[in-house]
This record gives sequence, C-alpha cells and structure tokens, in this order.
Amino acid sequence: MQYLMGDFKISDNMMRFSLFVPRLYNLCRSYGFEKGMIMPSRAFCSDENQGFPIILITKHFGAFPFNHGMVGGIVATDRHGPYAHHGKDLVIIQASHVGYDPETGQFGAYRRLQVDHQRQDASCGKILGVMDWYLKAYAFAIENISFSLVNGNAAVIIDNQLLDHNRDAGIFLNIDQFVVLDSGHVPQPLKVFSTSKAFHVNPALIGSLPKRYFQADKRAPIKKKLTANLFYFKKRISEALEGRDQLERNLSHSMPAIVTSNFPALAAAQINTQVEFDRAYRTILSEDSYKGKNLAFIAGINIDISPQQGQLFPITKFVPWAAYVQNRDGDVFLKEQEELLEELISQSTDNPDKIEMSKAIGAMEETPEVKIEIDH
Ligand SMILES: [Zn+2]
Repeated sequence: MQYLMGDFKISDNMMRFSLFVPRLYNLCRSYGFEKGMIMPSRAFCSDENQGFPIILITKHFGAFPFNHGMVGGIVATDRHGPYAHHGKDLVIIQASHVGYDPETGQFGAYRRLQVDHQRQDASCGKILGVMDWYLKAYAFAIENISFSLVNGNAAVIIDNQLLDHNRDAGIFLNIDQFVVLDSGHVPQPLKVFSTSKAFHVNPALIGSLPKRYFQADKRAPIKKKLTANLFYFKKRISEALEGRDQLERNLSHSMPAIVTSNFPALAAAQINTQVEFDRAYRTILSEDSYKGKNLAFIAGINIDISPQQGQLFPITKFVPWAAYVQNRDGDVFLKEQEELLEELISQSTDNPDKIEMSKAIGAMEETPEVKIEIDH
C-alpha cells in the first residue's frame, strides 16, 4: 500500500475550513440535496481541536453533526444504520488530522492553550502514539547499520539483532539488498564483531552511496539512506474490525514510507484518510438503510494550525482527498481529488442558508421554560 501517498496532493489543495464548509454545502445543494433536510455527520478524532470544524459544520448545515467517528479519525461504520434515520439527505465528512506549528514549520505539533505554559503537544496524539514504536525501531536501525572498509573490501556492518529473522516483532531488513545471498542465505561474514557482523556489500547498493562511506577503521552509519524499500516491520496487532488497533492496521503496511517521510505525522494522516475513505466507501455501498437516499461522503485531512496567544480557536485547513456521491435515483459518482477540488472551488463561499450561532443560542436561552413532569 506504499503507493497510496503518491497521488495525494497537499500543498496547493488546502483551503480554510471556513471556506470549505459553505462550498461543500452549496455543492450538496447543486446535487439536489434539500434545504433544511440535510443531516451532516463527522468522523473526526475526539481531540478538542476538532471542535472548530464541528462548529462551522453546524453553522452552515443548520444542524449539529452526527458523531460518526472514533479517536484517530476512524469511521464508526456500525453507526451507518442509526445515522441514516436522522436525515432525509446525508453528508458524511471524514478527516484525519495533524497539527502544524507555523513558527517551526513542523507537522505533528500543536499548542494546547488550556495547559500550563501552553506547551506544544502531539497532534494527532493517537497517530503519533501508534507511530512511536515504529519510529524508535527505525532510529535504532539507522544507527546500527554502517559502512566501512574491512580488509580492503567495501563492507556493510549490521547489528546482530537486525540479522535475526526469527524475532516476532521489530524492524527487518530486505537483506538481499544489502548483501549478495549465497543460495538464498546470508553469506559468511567478512568479519565477526561482538554485537555485529561485516559482509561484502551488494554492488547494487554501493552505487547509491558516497565513496567516503568506505574508509578503513571508520564506520559511516546508514542514517537516512535507509530508505523505505530496504526494510519492513513485523508487529502483532489486533485484527478486530474498528477495534483498538484499527488505526495501526490502516497504517502498518505503509510504515516504512511514513517513518522515512520528511513529515511522518502528515504522511500518516494522509494514509489513514486514504485507507478510511476506501474502507468506509465499501461499507456505505452495502448499507441497506442508505439505499434510495441522497448521500455524499467526503474524506480529507484537517490541518490544525497551532493557535497563537490570545487566539480562541485554531485556524483549520482542509485538504480534500475524494468523495462518493449518490442520489435518490440510484446514480453514483466517485470524485477523485482533482475533480472534487474543481467542484468545490467553483462553488460560492456565500451560504444564504447558514445560521447565526449567537442568535440561535440566544433564542434557545429566551424560549419560555418547559416543565418536565416526572411525578405521576
Ligand atoms: Zn487526534
């Protein structure tokens, strides 16, 4: 699944959430969705910084969105049935999220205003929590594979743990790319060290490395030259559908691409969105309670820009990835990123049907008391 990330374009395709939601509303209206009959739903992480997008959805759709999501931005597909009964027309928005610190240009960091010293924290914490084990394993490998000149031969020196293919879990090398196998087996070492072994380097690998890596009595760690094609991970994770490890299942096959990316937290959010769109799309197709309804399902990434001091809410940007649309007559459409973006951008950001939140809340507060009778 490593090819997944490739076609997901980020930089030119993001828009402020405050512009995305009215465009989405108007787009749904252009599909024939009825004013006042649309129930939005959101599959967002539980993080409080996802609240701002929820407020904007409420404002533009005139209804608080149904909660269709679990921590990490996983779609709770067992809620399709109940959700289908809550609106005539349906709009499901799925988004994985990632923090962004404009001061450092780093993804995965987010300033929490309600903690002491308003320190930076992980965002999405769930995604970064899952990635931690993989990042540590990768960090070990890049320091414990090195190159040298051993007895005049270009050599790769590999830590014994990385050579042990009988482990249950960990980072594993595509060893045939490092050494030339001898009848399918790792060849005899050039030299045996206390915790590692040196081998002749596969000539195909030598070509991709600078000459200075091969000096006698010096070891040059592989560092970032340990690219995604050279290794894989093994780890036992729960197979339960939408269980504790669903996010990790979504990401696990793509972990080599994620940990070697310049922005691992962003790469992981991208991949989770791609996997969730594909996975949830299939569950929507097979859901009887959606048959004969207008329905739009759109997936993307929420980029939460870390708030500055004095700012109440973050600026959230949305990067659309794909959409599935069906109408009551049974016509169905899949919109790939480019087409979806064009459709969204062609819509007005003016929404005549939006509600004024403060007025709506004021009206709620001023409505005469309703007495709840509990005595019989
Ligand atoms: Zn999160």
